[in-house]
Amino acid sequence: MKPITIRNIRTIATAPMGASWLIVLVETSEPGITGIGCASFRMRYHTVITTIERYLKPLLIGRDVSEIEDIWQTSMVQSYWRNSPVFNSAIAGIDIALWDIKGKMANMPVYQLLGGKSRPAAAVYSHADGKDLQEVGDNFSKFREQGYKFIRCQLGGYGGKVHEITSPDNVLPGNYFDPPAYAKSVIKLFDYIRENFGTDTELIHDVHSRLSPIDVIKLARNLEPHNLFWLEDAFPPELLDWYTLMRQHTLTPQAVGEIFTHPREWEPLINDRLIDFIRLNITKVGGITPGKKIAAKAESNGVRLGSYAGCSSPVAVAATLHVNLNAYSFGAMEWNSWKYMEDVMSEMFPGLPQVRSGYMYANDQPGLGIGINEKMALKFPCPEDSLGMDIHDVPLWTTTRTPDGSSTRP
Ligand code: MG
Repeated sequence: MKPITIRNIRTIATAPMGASWLIVLVETSEPGITGIGCASFRMRYHTVITTIERYLKPLLIGRDVSEIEDIWQTSMVQSYWRNSPVFNSAIAGIDIALWDIKGKMANMPVYQLLGGKSRPAAAVYSHADGKDLQEVGDNFSKFREQGYKFIRCQLGGYGGKVHEITSPDNVLPGNYFDPPAYAKSVIKLFDYIRENFGTDTELIHDVHSRLSPIDVIKLARNLEPHNLFWLEDAFPPELLDWYTLMRQHTLTPQAVGEIFTHPREWEPLINDRLIDFIRLNITKVGGITPGKKIAAKAESNGVRLGSYAGCSSPVAVAATLHVNLNAYSFGAMEWNSWKYMEDVMSEMFPGLPQVRSGYMYANDQPGLGIGINEKMALKFPCPEDSLGMDIHDVPLWTTTRTPDGSSTRP
């Protein structure tokens, strides 16, 4: 049988929800079979477009679409230096599209190609935020009424902007926060949530690696009475050795990895059972091909999947969903809802995954079961490409500072 080959690779940048998304279309020699993938890197998507257009496209045009593993391995080493958020995102866009194509060729959903469903739907957690306890409580209450079993609670955003901050003269602009005040506010927040809403809901909190190592260990220990489902990103990738001390001092479950770009970053944490959930970010690891391997590695050590989908496109959400439906080690996945854009999103991404009572369902269409309305996508250009808007060129929220003006992790 003559192989189906890659005829063309195109990218579509769009931002209907504000975050810049980069959708990849892999067109094939077979009329009517096109694969869709996601290569989004919100803050640097032009570099991903260049990687795909200048380097991956010439490498891959003419390749047999069925050889996903070899295409992934070849693409990863082609530049000799490998693994970066830019490069992994670019490869992920093509890898996810090739899995979509394989599903279309087999006339099966991707979760079937991976081994079938371990569960009918994937539990999602939503994000209850607010400027004060009452507002977080109101949002928490709304999600509970919608049937969510898992809710992430944050007071005043990530890292918590909880009060006025006094700084020295001449500090630089930035997103200021006060670490000790934040740590205290987290305890108050969970006291409030448990007192008002009981113990039926699984609770999550994201530290965003914004505390000093010893302070986040103290926080995790102080949160033990509230029995969190997980504490997210206690330490940044450069300080992972601290997880040993964390485990020695608290039983609060740990989730980490949404900014990892290499499976080796999880490996010692999984091998030594120092974490409980991996925050698998399907575009930043390089697609479904490495994603399924990382999930299997976690499973073999009793570590579960707590998948990232923070500012992910619907295509990345769909790819993540298919992995989560199959992976025995799945726990819960992030989902921020399409909010007031539900109608627009359904029209722009036909086959959008559906959420009912806190569970996300895939449709049973071949491949990922999602497409894109290109004309509509073009109506929502990325902020960086719109005249007068450059907020994602130098985003404020990633320019984070502590009260004395020092730069810190966003
Ligand atoms: Mg996070």
